[in-house]
Amino acid sequence: MANSSKYYLVSVMNKIKNKNNCSQLDEKTLWFEGQCRKFGLKVTPQRIAIYRELLKTDEHPSAEMLYEKVKTIFPSISLDTVNRTLLKLNEIGAAFVVEGSGDAKRFDGGLKEHQHFKCVKCKRIIDFHHKPFDNIKLPAEISKKFTVLRKTVYLEGLCDLCR
Ligand SMILES: [Zn+2]
Ligand SMILES: [Zn+2]
Repeated sequence: MANSSKYYLVSVMNKIKNKNNCSQLDEKTLWFEGQCRKFGLKVTPQRIAIYRELLKTDEHPSAEMLYEKVKTIFPSISLDTVNRTLLKLNEIGAAFVVEGSGDAKRFDGGLKEHQHFKCVKCKRIIDFHHKPFDNIKLPAEISKKFTVLRKTVYLEGLCDLCR
């Protein structure tokens, strides 16, 4: 492990273990560590950094957007590593791929109930939360036939800056 990445992990973990000023981000990092262990995934400084950078932003970044950020911490990291890590996060339930296709996959670390509006022009993905959308009833023909794991309302259009 390169020195810089060792230093990153040690400093993040020290900060977290010093519970006094444990931020929400730190608490989530702890949860993420546990989640990695549960799924037999090694806790590496790169994974921690990618997860934390994902949580710090509300832009729902693509692998490439996150790569640009993580690169400033780990200059030798590759886009491929970031991409594979994000897919792993999706697998272990620490993040998910935002719905809507055609463009590069976009990721979200916000696991609280919320919905997305995506601007087709500038590609911004904006969070919103409309409670009635959380509990949409499924038609019987679907619930009889399938096991639904995730329901989501996804809106697409032109954002306030583009219309
Ligand atoms: Zn827009
Ligand atoms: Zn979101």
